[in-house]
Amino acid sequence: MDTIEADYLVIGAGATAMAFVDTLVSETTATVVIVDRNHAPGGHWNTAYPFVRLHQPSAYYGVNSRPLGSDTIDQSGWNAGYYELASGAEVCAYFDAVMQQHLLPTGRVSYFPMSEYLGDRRFRTLGGQEFTVTVRRRIVDSTYIGVVVPSMRKPAYAVAAGVDCIPPNDLPKVREARDEYVIVGAGKTAMDACLWLLRHGIAPQRLTWIKPRDSWLLDRANVQPGALFAKRMAADVAAQLKAVELASSVEDLFDRLAASGCLLRIDESIEPTMFRCAIVSQGELTQLRRIENVVRMGHVTAIAPGRIELDGGSVSTHPTALYIDCTADGLGSRDVVTVFDGEVITLQMVRTCQPAFSAAAIAHVEAAYDDDTTRNAFCRPVPYPHVPLDWLRMMLAYNSNQLHWFTDPEMMSWLDGARLNILSHAKSAVSERVRQKIAGALRPVLQSTNEKLEALLAS
Ligand SMILES: Cc1cc2nc3c(=O)[nH]c(=O)nc-3n(C[C@H](O)[C@H](O)[C@H](O)COP(=O)(O)OP(=O)(O)OC[C@H]3O[C@@H](n4cnc5c(N)ncnc54)[C@H](O)[C@@H]3O)c2cc1C
Repeated sequence: MDTIEADYLVIGAGATAMAFVDTLVSETTATVVIVDRNHAPGGHWNTAYPFVRLHQPSAYYGVNSRPLGSDTIDQSGWNAGYYELASGAEVCAYFDAVMQQHLLPTGRVSYFPMSEYLGDRRFRTLGGQEFTVTVRRRIVDSTYIGVVVPSMRKPAYAVAAGVDCIPPNDLPKVREARDEYVIVGAGKTAMDACLWLLRHGIAPQRLTWIKPRDSWLLDRANVQPGALFAKRMAADVAAQLKAVELASSVEDLFDRLAASGCLLRIDESIEPTMFRCAIVSQGELTQLRRIENVVRMGHVTAIAPGRIELDGGSVSTHPTALYIDCTADGLGSRDVVTVFDGEVITLQMVRTCQPAFSAAAIAHVEAAYDDDTTRNAFCRPVPYPHVPLDWLRMMLAYNSNQLHWFTDPEMMSWLDGARLNILSHAKSAVSERVRQKIAGALRPVLQSTNEKLEALLAS
């Protein structure tokens, strides 16, 4: 057993770990050991399907020190008019460049890919060498969400011999057209698989979409960076706050959010029971609405040739149908934990739907403040969303963080300069004086919004 020493031991080299280490290394003189079981940085982006793209603009994803993409507005396709979305390959190449060209050249970061963290500060490399890390400051756990994509595991339902059931990773390898394509799952991965099939000319009548649940979605038009979209984003935030203020119940709140375009759904006649921060453009939504053969009979329990068994009954399919398994739970479902807790930092979100920004913010707070009580006051964890009520829980926690950030000019100035902060891209549109005025006006609104959210959650 070899021993190495470092200030920080970071478990994982996915997006959150990379964003954390990038900021930590930029703002301190700390040394870091990063241990990851993958062969390259980027976490689950290394195993995602080949046609995956960010569903948010590249402009504010990745790490703070390096731009991702070229800030181009797409001119064609279903994202036309909005900022570019990096492909999975671009995201992986980006994190590789961050590691090779920024982190490792500092001489303060040691990276151990293909290495398994065994707990208790120990890890084992692929070659079998075991290390113990003497950690001077903290262990940073970036594995909290436990992202699982379909290619990482077998489907949870039985698949009979003779049935073609593939993860979305294998979709581009299928060269012969099928009479029927059955997409199993209702999340963003399933939407991506549907859009991929439609983009390649498969008629919507040949798609069967098994949706155990429907989801509330975010409109990509409302999460665009930069001056061009600043008014639209401000109008969306104002509409969300207004909806909370006027809501007479949780149901009424979601009706208002839907009516004002803050939340979208594919089928407007269905009340969604899921919310996962998935983002779509109106162009994608139009395409998804072309799929009429939607099966809402619960989860799939088994697939046999020509037949699908579900919780709520069975459905006949074409005997040569191709099944695309999109059922993995992208974001795990652990309860929130304290971010700064003794010798451990557990990376979680501190801003709604923004894991990379959040990890960088946590690193900055670790570097800039002296004690964990202060640090935790800046970083109240925002829960990962699963059900619609989580929209309220997320807003409540994020508003609390924002109110705390307003109290500290140093934190506000860090936020202004952080490329992972969507709001920093609107700089040219808003002067410092106006920004302070907005913060002053927002403070009482956020306070009363939080009181109302607490009342709605308790009702
Ligand atoms: C299809 C898809 C699209 C998405 N699009 C966006 C988007 O547009 N914007 C956005 O903000 N988010 C998006 N997300 C959310 C995404 O999950 C996060 O942005 C981010 O990539 C999560 O990174 P992570 O570091 O938390 O987790 P991971 O990527 O899972 O990284 C964790 C790392 O820890 C390693 N690890 C775990 N246990 C061990 C161990 N015992 N020993 C060694 N290593 C270990 C794993 O190998 C992995 O590399 C998307 C998610 C999916 C699935």
